[in-house]
Amino acid sequence: MDNITAKWEEVLIELANQVSAISYDMWLKKLEPIDVIEGVFYIKAPNNMTKKICNESYSFLISQAISKVLNIDEFEIFGTEEYEEFTKHNIKQNEKEEKKECPFNPKFTFENFVVGKSNQFVYSAAKSVAENPGARFNPLFIYGGVGLGKTHLLHSIGNFIFKNNPKLNILYVTCEKFTNDYLECLHNKNKDISKFREKYRSLDVLMVDDIQFISNKESTQLEFFNTFNDLHQSNKHIIITSDRPPNEISTLNDRMVSRFNMGLIQDIQAPDFETRYVILQKKAQLENCLVDNDALVFIAENVTSNIRELEGVLSKTAFLASLRGHPRATIEEAKEALKTKLEESKEQLTPNLIIDIVSKYYRIDKQAILGTKRTKEIADARHMSIYLMCELMNLPMATIGREIFSRDHTTIMHARNKIADAYGKNDKITREINDLKSMILQQ
Ligand code: ADP
Ligand code: MG
Repeated sequence: MDNITAKWEEVLIELANQVSAISYDMWLKKLEPIDVIEGVFYIKAPNNMTKKICNESYSFLISQAISKVLNIDEFEIFGTEEYEEFTKHNIKQNEKEEKKECPFNPKFTFENFVVGKSNQFVYSAAKSVAENPGARFNPLFIYGGVGLGKTHLLHSIGNFIFKNNPKLNILYVTCEKFTNDYLECLHNKNKDISKFREKYRSLDVLMVDDIQFISNKESTQLEFFNTFNDLHQSNKHIIITSDRPPNEISTLNDRMVSRFNMGLIQDIQAPDFETRYVILQKKAQLENCLVDNDALVFIAENVTSNIRELEGVLSKTAFLASLRGHPRATIEEAKEALKTKLEESKEQLTPNLIIDIVSKYYRIDKQAILGTKRTKEIADARHMSIYLMCELMNLPMATIGREIFSRDHTTIMHARNKIADAYGKNDKITREINDLKSMILQQ
């Protein structure tokens, strides 16, 4: 819906350029977008008079503007009664659908998942679990960097089971949701956690996304551990994802790590060029965007570490083309999309933001990163922050040293070089750099 509102703003700008200020204020400005349904843009008029005038005098301009901004050819303006009918009908429709609605993202399916060298093992394991839950690879632990398809795979398993094995009770939760569910039950009036247990222990398949966010509180860990054991003993399947392997999740209990080792721990790597290119082709097709081949090649060559970013640049490319009224996006638009995306993300960067993200990622206090302690973990996080400031913000080393860390520039240079040298050689550091960069530039 937000997207529709934003698009409508653009339509209004188009319209404002075409009519007198008075007509615009009197009629067009008062229209509101409702939704796009099956290729028709529905618009609400504040009263029947406005509807009539707009239909009679401005329908050509409206249609032109909508077609330019959204590539949609049809629209309909609702007056008061029609709008009431429409909302009533929609509410009923939603109520009907609620009962049987599939809780998984319909776009995240095995069919839409492009398989390449970087993810073929994890794909096969996920497929095998979906086909035979409770059998092999239990638990399945998937780890890998930001935007590489972990959540997509969990939803694929969900969609597959929902369709082929609808009697199974399957749940997807983020680690945060699991924790909140638990804490809510724990803190309600009766401290009754039987509801929580009823929900989680009656499952056939439990999927927990982003387990790296598990809190180090003993009670939450214990509840997770017990839920895990309970399900596992009854051959119920558990699938977990994380941005790093179990033994690198600093808050995770050792006994939990050893439980994960009972099943399959499988990583998912950044895609190679071939895979990135096929993903782009597939996305363009799914979203009905026409994009020149050399534009796809350009994007695949230049966005290398994160599939979400790959998609972001592709949709920006298509958006720029549609703004210009081009039916097909060209390499020019792809270049511009990449450039503006990077600039937009970099414009908002501050050293403080970088330290914030590094601090959350490693779970190390911000003040410790800024301070002088030299225990390995703290020093590593500090070096990483310095490296990222140099790389992403082009800040002079002297400035970083003087204004942020109160150190001289040779210390800063040392820290930067240490991380830069490890990039591409040390797997762990390379993964961490890619993850952190993705997180920082997505802010
Ligand atoms: P993660 O959970 O690992 O951060 P997501 O599963 O959210 O990443 O994936 C980010 C985006 O990239 C999603 O839109 C997803 O559909 C897409 N994506 C990831 N891997 C693939 C793939 N192999 N094929 C097609 N799309 C993919
Ligand atoms: Mg995810």
